[in-house]
Amino acid sequence: MTPLQTFYKSLLIGTVISALLAACATSPLGRKQLILMPESQMQQMGATSYQQIKQSRTLSNNARDQRYVRCVASAITDAMGGGNWEVNLFADDTANAFALPGGKIGVHTGLLDVAQTPDQLAAVLGHEVGHVIAHHSNERMSIQFATQTGGQLLQALSGEPSPEKQLLFAALGIGAQVGVQLPFSRKHESESDLIGLELMAKAGFDPRASVTLWQNMAKQGGEKPPEFLSTHPSNETRIQELSQNMNKALPLYRKAKQSGETPNCQR
Ligand SMILES: [Zn+2]
Repeated sequence: MTPLQTFYKSLLIGTVISALLAACATSPLGRKQLILMPESQMQQMGATSYQQIKQSRTLSNNARDQRYVRCVASAITDAMGGGNWEVNLFADDTANAFALPGGKIGVHTGLLDVAQTPDQLAAVLGHEVGHVIAHHSNERMSIQFATQTGGQLLQALSGEPSPEKQLLFAALGIGAQVGVQLPFSRKHESESDLIGLELMAKAGFDPRASVTLWQNMAKQGGEKPPEFLSTHPSNETRIQELSQNMNKALPLYRKAKQSGETPNCQR
């Protein structure tokens, strides 16, 4: 490498590093994050992916269950300050649920066999919404970006569908090809658990149901494990961490109940 090339290389590295430092953000729990994607772009990607999911899957035609799922979801989203969330129950026997940037929530009918009460369903939705408000997809994408060179980065953002774009969609947690779901890291999982716990308690759902939910998931883990388990391992650490934070969540739950915050979601 000539001295000039070396100079340009260090200049490029310097530019990238300052861009990365400028992009440091903080998660709701105070963890430092690398956030490179504009939030508007994340929301657009979430909305596009959701559209694809709606086109390729069937909505449940059980109006009562649709109402029930929307009732629990809106109590959770209200607890985090509202906003416009689209919530749909999909006719799908696999036990799964997801939330996407851009205010999109999807629940599979199969989940209602595992999350058997409104409080347990609230635990799943609180967790999923937790990933969205902590910008976990953005962080995951940003890390992928940071490991690519500048040229690939620009290419990935614009133009035709490409393997890079596929990777970006996969970072959303669902994939451009519907069905591809990447697990979040343990760090993201733990953060979403705690955000979800707080949200469900504030919404007036019994936070202790989160522990029951994960026990239910683990119980069904035998022959035909819930799909949710493939991206959300139910382990002792998760249950332990939730239990350890119950002393913070229970007062929020009692306060919500005292102020008449009691979601009446019937199936
Ligand atoms: Zn998760």
